[in-house]
Amino acid sequence: MSDYHPVELGYMPDALLMYCSDGRFFDAHESSAETHGVKSEDRLPDRIVIPGPSYSIVEESSGRVILPYIRGLLKLHGCTQISIYDHFPCGWMTENTEGYRESDEAGKIAIHGRHLKAAEEILSQSFKGIDIQTHLFGPKEEIDLSRLAA
Ligand SMILES: [Zn+2]
Repeated sequence: MSDYHPVELGYMPDALLMYCSDGRFFDAHESSAETHGVKSEDRLPDRIVIPGPSYSIVEESSGRVILPYIRGLLKLHGCTQISIYDHFPCGWMTENTEGYRESDEAGKIAIHGRHLKAAEEILSQSFKGIDIQTHLFGPKEEIDLSRLAA
């Protein structure tokens, strides 16, 4: 028997977190979400879990599928904030992004930075007034994206 906490149906999530499917990074993403205040015992965000979140938003065919899900969740729950969580090395990015496999750590970080920026722009244009946050995690720590050159 699992330890079940009753669900408070009157509560509406106000944030949507987009994680990579790679479960090894879930704990890091959840911890960061708590640090940044978008997840807590009282603040329970929605989540979309997809391989390579920034890539999947930016790439045309997967973006066409994902954007309606995001639109639907924002409408359903009135979410006002979206956080995108990338990580490296990401197997999905390795298989699908030109130059990623051959790149060193700095190169991978730069590729994620470009994809996260592009994903942020797509979401900002698609969903006016929604606060978009982007995050990148390495195997040992969260990367400060502000240190990347524009
Ligand atoms: Zn991944």
